[in-house]
Amino acid sequence: MSLPAKKTIEIDENITHFVYKMLSHESILKYDESKCVECGFCHRVCPVTISIYDEPLKRTAIGTPEEMRIESDKKIVVDTEKCIWCGSCTWICPGYTLELLINGENKILLVENGSLAEFDEEVRTLENGHKVRKVVHGSIKFNCTEKDTKVIDAFTKECAVDAMSREGKDIAVDIDKCILCFKCSDASKNYDNISVEIHRDKFMKVKGNPSSVWNGIMLRVLGKEGKIKGIMSRSQNKLADSVMRLLGRESSEEEET
Ligand code: SF4
Ligand code: SF4
Repeated sequence: MSLPAKKTIEIDENITHFVYKMLSHESILKYDESKCVECGFCHRVCPVTISIYDEPLKRTAIGTPEEMRIESDKKIVVDTEKCIWCGSCTWICPGYTLELLINGENKILLVENGSLAEFDEEVRTLENGHKVRKVVHGSIKFNCTEKDTKVIDAFTKECAVDAMSREGKDIAVDIDKCILCFKCSDASKNYDNISVEIHRDKFMKVKGNPSSVWNGIMLRVLGKEGKIKGIMSRSQNKLADSVMRLLGRESSEEEET
């Protein structure tokens, strides 16, 4: 039997609340756009797969309006028809931009029940006072044949965490500051003479023994540029189903009234 549920979106200036209300509880995915560094981690970690018939699959339940094919002036949007309010995106968000509130309390059930691991993180404060954390290790390499230093300067500004700078006609990166986010590699598609290679090797030191969904979620996070490993076929929603079971919920709850 399906339980009555209601999904709404409430916007208050920079804050968007994606609300999932049931008889017994209310979950709110809270997004603070003013802190968002557009790193794309939320898009990659989300266990939900959205089927698209005529294009390569790489959509989840959260992402930029372009990734989500949703018209919006917000940096990030959520498909409330598909979101299961699991909190995976809030757990990984390097900018502390997303929060999951369950009955008003800030909590992530998947961490509480041991399904998602806690991990070490390196936190620093940006010039604007916002905090950002590095959650994965890896490497980044630039290939720059651009001669115009103004173009190189413009490219280095694409990084929202001030990790890139120009050294002569080269691009330098401070690997301690770089959060390996693919924002610059996506931006490089608009620069003829600049390309970027990013590899995420592993998560920062993981604590405990997480459940099997961890592997599926990690595959997505560590997937190569432009591709989210784990989204392989149009029918693949097994990861989201496993997450639902770990949350003690069934997909029938998702029916809206
Ligand atoms: S709460 Fe879970 S399902 Fe919803 S957007 Fe975040 S990661 Fe995806
Ligand atoms: S240098 Fe690139 S990968 Fe590193 S934080 Fe900046 S935009 Fe992200």
